Amino acid sequence: MHLARFNPVRFAHLPTPLEPLPRLTEALATAGGGGPNLWIKRDDCTGLAGGGNKTRKLEYLLGDALANDATALITQGAVQSNHVRQTAAAAAMFGMACEVILEERTGSNAADYTLSGNVLLDELLGANIRRVPGGTDMNAQLAQVAAEVAAAGGRPYVIPGGGSNVIGALGYVECAMELVSQANEAGLEIDRIVTATGSAGTHAGLVAGIAVMGADIPILGIGVRAPKDVQEANVFKLAQETADLLGHKDRVTRDLVVADCDYVGAGYGLVDEAVIDALKLAARTDAILLDPVYTGKAMKGLIALSRKGAFDGETVVFLHTGGAQGLFGYQTIMDGHLG
Ligand SMILES: *Cc1c(COP(=O)(O)O)cnc(C)c1O
Repeated sequence: MHLARFNPVRFAHLPTPLEPLPRLTEALATAGGGGPNLWIKRDDCTGLAGGGNKTRKLEYLLGDALANDATALITQGAVQSNHVRQTAAAAAMFGMACEVILEERTGSNAADYTLSGNVLLDELLGANIRRVPGGTDMNAQLAQVAAEVAAAGGRPYVIPGGGSNVIGALGYVECAMELVSQANEAGLEIDRIVTATGSAGTHAGLVAGIAVMGADIPILGIGVRAPKDVQEANVFKLAQETADLLGHKDRVTRDLVVADCDYVGAGYGLVDEAVIDALKLAARTDAILLDPVYTGKAMKGLIALSRKGAFDGETVVFLHTGGAQGLFGYQTIMDGHLG
């Protein structure tokens, strides 16, 4: 795979560390000697104004935006979107305007949710924020804002929610290559990769990367929003398109795409006791700060599946996709649950 031909711009702190999680591994060990041997890929440390998984995607997306002489980045997300924060940071770094549309998806009116966490950082980074109610046609909103920017003489570059198109997914093809090379160097045999899966670009990029490399490592996506059939179909479509861009569409087969969407709980961005327990366990064992919307839910699933014996004897790499900045938007909601 020759990713340089897609002209990414370089600002991420790479490679991100691949580290063991000894205390979490011990906490999930079962009496009979079962449980996973857990490692973590630290994509929460990609560096871009707090970092997270959108940073790798943005290296490729900014490459494309610069090739198109864009003067403004336009994107959308939930109120506490980490993608929006990282896009605002990238725009600042390249001297571009940033227009963002935040969708009210969770129903929370708490001041910390609507103003703190990622929202505070979006504003600090200079993004211009528009807010719309839940259920709004966000693609239509993106098109409308792009038209407004163009009418005012700017050159808009629209980035879809989560940066999840084939260009963004290349960032996770690169992550797959980086991870396999780190594992080879460390003599670490990976049995499975576990990641949160939302707008699908991360999961799809990993599937495409592992498949095109022929590395044969199963990937489990833990869903945060859509039901399993919808999530797997979205990931499969994008993984195939990404592999196609790399000249190997046939290598991504449907069986490679597996999502478990049993841990979404009441809905996107809504935390429950098991999510808070997962946040506490990761923090209090290996000092890992997860987030309430994505990695906390993925860890909730990983813990539950471990306790059911799903990973017995496996070396599992948990991809930390970032998001801890969003914790500050959830103070009211978690208040009284952190003891
Ligand atoms: C966006 C995001 C995800 C999900 O990644 P997708 O590529 O949208 O599936 C996971 N974790 C965090 C912290 C995110 O911000």
